Amino acid sequence: MTDRYASFVQTGAGRALVKRLGLPDPPRLRRHTPGDPLVPGPVLLGASSGGRLAEPAGKILTAAGVELADPATATGDSRFAALVYDASGVADSTGLRQLYDFFHPQARSLLPSGRVIVLGTPPVECGSPREATAQRALEGLTRSIGKEFGRGVTAQLVYVTRDGDAGTPVSLESTLRFLLSGRSAYVSGQVVRVGAGTAVAPADWDRPLDGQVVLVTGAARGIGAALAKVLARDGAQVVALDIPAAGDELATVANEIGGSAVQLDLTAPDAPTRLAEHLASRHGRVDVVVHNAGITRDKTLGRMDADRWDSVIDVNLSSQERINDVLLERDLIPAGGRIVSVSSIAGIAGNRGQTNYATSKAGVIGLVDSLSPVLRERGISLNAVAPGFIETRLTARIPLTLREAGRRMNSMAQGGLPVDVAETIGWLSWPASGAVSGNVVRVCGQSLLGA
Ligand code: NAD
Repeated sequence: MTDRYASFVQTGAGRALVKRLGLPDPPRLRRHTPGDPLVPGPVLLGASSGGRLAEPAGKILTAAGVELADPATATGDSRFAALVYDASGVADSTGLRQLYDFFHPQARSLLPSGRVIVLGTPPVECGSPREATAQRALEGLTRSIGKEFGRGVTAQLVYVTRDGDAGTPVSLESTLRFLLSGRSAYVSGQVVRVGAGTAVAPADWDRPLDGQVVLVTGAARGIGAALAKVLARDGAQVVALDIPAAGDELATVANEIGGSAVQLDLTAPDAPTRLAEHLASRHGRVDVVVHNAGITRDKTLGRMDADRWDSVIDVNLSSQERINDVLLERDLIPAGGRIVSVSSIAGIAGNRGQTNYATSKAGVIGLVDSLSPVLRERGISLNAVAPGFIETRLTARIPLTLREAGRRMNSMAQGGLPVDVAETIGWLSWPASGAVSGNVVRVCGQSLLGA
């Protein structure tokens, strides 16, 4: 589906009209292409006094070939690809002034699709209520910067645990790389938690999934097809699953990426065991499980028949639980394994006409909250992504005015692409992301819905 307005805005006449009438101005977003440098310019790295994260962040960036700039020597004319600030030293509310001092002079210094990353300490780990209060306050700053800076700039807060290995370069690296790169083009206003899990850096950051066996459900089209392609591009061996009726489309996707196709209806009573047997016999394991298959059967609650309710809950939530149970019982997901589920911003905000869907997608968030601590003990991470308005067949069916509202009411003034969701799931799947678990990351361009 094409966004004709966004294409028009890129023309000379479009630019003039948008300026004159103050219309939404969707920028062209920087997206990842293999071989790209991590960032297209220097990064300004600043730190609050006593911050513990600037040093590991600086090491990661330098090793990645990034040119670092020093706030002491930055002039008003400097242009940066990213502003990274270590706020972990902010111990009380008066210390927040250090963030003003760093960001205020740089409010216009970012290149288009620039990045703002604030690093902090999870408030629950802080030593005093004053410190926890100040660290919690960082959310308001980063989310507001995401709404203010425009031109495709994204802003995120990364809370890094004080426990264990975290805070060392290896646990932070995958998240910093993802957030700085074009892979996170449509992710903004997010709070990501980096915990104490084990992270394994890849030999080549352009192939962060080398040798991993990855299952993608609902892979025949839309987000699932984009996922299969992105994960294969990043080195994974992809097992693409969809219903038998989508067999031809599924085979096309699997052939294109040199993966294998499994035709299976996830709601069939024997689906979990058949899937487990397939994975065991062909691969002996599955390193990454991506629960992407999903359906909508919209009606307001008063008009909704029980079939609509049951089918949506079953495909979007219960089938994920049944499959996890069998794969885990049979030890098919090894230590270092990853599970990523697809939720939705409807599961965060609720949506008229989608009680069934929003219930199922909020349930996915419940699954992450409840199961991720249990799986952490087995060395397996569990996260979810919550897409906002993504340009797919699903959103093409929304009536025009609602569709335009969905597209424009976010900080990017445009819908996301399936590849944006795929890149985010990719990051959560990497062996290098072992310290990232229990997160729900919205891929919504900082949508106002559920904000
Ligand atoms: P889509 O309808 O294009 O693709 C979903 C795929 O899942 C289809 O290929 C379908 O055949 C498959 N599927 C459905 N039921 C299945 C079953 N029982 N067994 C096996 N496969 C089954 O949808 P999409 O837009 O690509 O969405 C993918 C995921 O993203 C879904 O979970 C959806 O809820 C979620 N999502 C999408 C958006 C969006 O804007 N498109 C927004 C938020 C969340």
